Amino acid sequence: MSEVVNPATGEVVASVAATSLAETDAAIERAARAHETWRNVAPGDRARVLRRFAAVVDAHLEELAQLEVRNAGHTIGNARWEAGNVRDVLDYYAGAPERLTGRQIPVPGGLDVTFHEPLGVVGVIVPWNFPMPIAGWGFAPALAAGNTVVLKPAELTPLTALRLAELGREAGLPADVFTVLPGKGSVVGERFVTHPAVRKVCFTGSTEVGTRIMAGCAEQVKRVTLELGGKSANLVFADADLEKAAATAPYAVFDNAGQDCCARSRILVQRPVYDRFLELLEPAVRGFRVEDPARDTAEMGPLISAGHRDRVGGYVDGAKVAFTGSCPDGPGFWYAPTVLLADSPDDRHWREEIFGPVVSVLPFDDEADAIRLANDTEYGLSGSIWTRDVGRAVRVARAVESGNLSVNSHSSVRYWTPFGGMKRSGLGRELGPDALHAFTDVKNVFIATEE
Ligand code: NAD
Repeated sequence: MSEVVNPATGEVVASVAATSLAETDAAIERAARAHETWRNVAPGDRARVLRRFAAVVDAHLEELAQLEVRNAGHTIGNARWEAGNVRDVLDYYAGAPERLTGRQIPVPGGLDVTFHEPLGVVGVIVPWNFPMPIAGWGFAPALAAGNTVVLKPAELTPLTALRLAELGREAGLPADVFTVLPGKGSVVGERFVTHPAVRKVCFTGSTEVGTRIMAGCAEQVKRVTLELGGKSANLVFADADLEKAAATAPYAVFDNAGQDCCARSRILVQRPVYDRFLELLEPAVRGFRVEDPARDTAEMGPLISAGHRDRVGGYVDGAKVAFTGSCPDGPGFWYAPTVLLADSPDDRHWREEIFGPVVSVLPFDDEADAIRLANDTEYGLSGSIWTRDVGRAVRVARAVESGNLSVNSHSSVRYWTPFGGMKRSGLGRELGPDALHAFTDVKNVFIATEE
């Protein structure tokens, strides 16, 4: 049994049994058997079940959101969006089974066609920072493509995933098509990597663990998608709408208490407007509402755990603090939004993913300098570019080595569009029109027509 704690209060809210190795094996084997029937469900029927699943999630949206507030300390506003995102992703991929078309390729001597075959059992490994959306980005397209899914939530945040599996059953998903296995990464997660019946692993989490998972999958040439860490840049050019850039910058990094792989945790400001930008940023940071995440007005809740709070604090100790916001005292794992001034791109807080409400600011000289500094990282997940010059926006967007960029906005995740990282931020893409193909293998069939 492991205890699930409300990070806003430190109180235990549930106890969840950890799945053992033998139970994991049994669940994978059941999922492999279920695949034989699920893959042969008529595309229209598979689509209908997924649409029903979306509708049941919608009917339980508030319940799921409240559960996430208690389990992960997410603000209620964010948690409602997250549950809605699961519904939307299910709806979006419910359109896929009936459109999963292959090609007919002109060849001499016969007919050549391709099929997008499901892989089999897909193992989805989810981190604690966005338990619902990240689960949905894996299981929805995987199921739509005809795979069965075993999913391991993070140890700290299993509650919404367990509830989603129940809702799937209620919506009519057959037994063993979608199974949630709470437990340890070293037991359940590793078994997804080593069990030969799991044909693909979708991993979201740290670059360190992701690198090991990729190495493990290589032994079986197992398909793998990796969504890993980030240290994304928010580039503010002198010609930008400075008021808007400064007013929105806190949301781009302190949302979800900075526990966001897309957090724009490095702000680069062109030197002539550097002082003015900081002047404008200060009230925005001081006014950021860090409070009981169950309140509708909350903009940020606590960090996930006491251990994580210590880790985040370790980056601030000894660093140059420009200013901070505020946070409640008392129980719970609170940390105030913090703005650090970087002396150079060698500073530890500038280079490493902090995964907390801490942002570092550094000036730059010109466009080339901005691009060089933005790319001076092993990561490449997201980023923002603030400028009124369209040509520059396009040039910089093309030059920054990152999978998801936004211009004059901080948007990263839209379920209609591909999401994923370059460099050590990941491998493969989730969401968008092509994600389904990441859950299939192309089969080519030639049928001779010659007598
Ligand atoms: P983590 O790597 O410690 O854990 C992620 C998941 O992997 C958990 O479910 C964990 O139990 C499991 N796991 C741990 N060891 C394992 C092993 N040996 N084999 C198989 N599974 C194992 O990461 P975390 O601390 O939960 O999450 C934070 C990290 O996730 C950050 O680095 C963040 O940037 C990253 N992240 C990336 C994205 C993205 O889309 N790129 C999104 C969210 C989070």
